[in-house]
Amino acid sequence: MQILLTFGCFLKIINIVTKFLLYFCRKYVILYIGTLKRQSIKVFSGKCLSFTTFERSTMSFEYIQKVPTPQEIQEEFPVAASLKEIKKERDKAIADVFTGKSDKFLVIVGPCSADNEEAVIDYVSRLAKVNDKVKDKLIIIPRIYTNKPRTTGEGYKGITSQPDPEGKPDFRQGLIAMRHMHIRAIEESGLTSADEMLYPENWGYVEDILSYVAIGARSVEDQQHRMTASGFDVPAGMKNPTSGYLTVMLNSIYAAQHPHSFLYRGYEVTTSGNPLAHCVLRGSQNKNGRNIPNYHYEDLSLVNQLYKEHDIQNPAVIVDSNHNNSGKKYREQVRIVKEVLHSRQHSDEIHKLVKGVMIESYIEEGAQKIGEGIYGKSITDPCLGWDATERLLYDIAELS
Ligand code: PEP
Ligand code: MN
Repeated sequence: MQILLTFGCFLKIINIVTKFLLYFCRKYVILYIGTLKRQSIKVFSGKCLSFTTFERSTMSFEYIQKVPTPQEIQEEFPVAASLKEIKKERDKAIADVFTGKSDKFLVIVGPCSADNEEAVIDYVSRLAKVNDKVKDKLIIIPRIYTNKPRTTGEGYKGITSQPDPEGKPDFRQGLIAMRHMHIRAIEESGLTSADEMLYPENWGYVEDILSYVAIGARSVEDQQHRMTASGFDVPAGMKNPTSGYLTVMLNSIYAAQHPHSFLYRGYEVTTSGNPLAHCVLRGSQNKNGRNIPNYHYEDLSLVNQLYKEHDIQNPAVIVDSNHNNSGKKYREQVRIVKEVLHSRQHSDEIHKLVKGVMIESYIEEGAQKIGEGIYGKSITDPCLGWDATERLLYDIAELS
């Protein structure tokens, strides 16, 4: 009995000593690798650097949860055959506008951020009724923006990040909420929508749903965004950067229109190039923070000229009437859109070049703070209200 007890104690001690040694060895290896890394001595192979403990303890990343892959979410929330048919028809009609086969006018319209599924579905159902009356002249594309870029990184980052704007980030639920809302919008309105690609790796979650994708002003200079857009089979609207540099925007269109090889979600991929990549003019800010609009006739003529000087297919402009074009004076959007339509009437070249407008609009006009709880009112940029939007849509149909 005593021998057994002594042997048990001995094993316990061995166990503790082994754990102790392992702990120190690990710590030592990590510190050693960290030192080598700091000294930029590249003696470790990729295999060694992908050692999980190393990654987790030398970077300030906390791995919160594993999210489902695009394929898993697509399988869980499939698109019905009837909706696929709607998308196919709308994609063709929209592509025809960019290639010049159709002279319908595009109106990408909806809230700055699609923060609440019920209000968004209510909104797109209203759009559907207007669409029935103007569809000979216009193609209405609801703006259902589920990812929000933030200037300082602070603030609401969209339903994909925070399915509950007042709650904590939850990307697992957010990715589901994003796909669910887009599919429901097509089911209830018959309209396929536009979103912004803030995270290129999220494209697979919506690739079979969207009819239009914008690359935001803060993302347009980024190589991964440009190359991912080169693989879309729908139009990619490349916004001018916040600085307003048109060369950055034109370079991004050129990049998106050409094939690329790159790393994407753990794969080496190649893309075919997207001939429907085009520019979106959203105004800019000068170094003193002043707005510089770029929707006037002279701006449109300049972009027309620049397109001629670059090797870019299907030259096209969409004018975003809010952001630095309106200085976020959202009611000005009505005047701005009408001015653009007037410029189109004034010149055949501008008529051909300007394929549409982008309007920030929701049910209630203006914006509110998160937590105020007003149904259908923006919690990011201020928007035109529904009544003014409806009137404007009929006016656009008349004037385009
Ligand atoms: C937006 O469309 O709401 C937006 C943030 O646009 P931009 O990238 O032009 O600022
Ligand atoms: Mn906005």
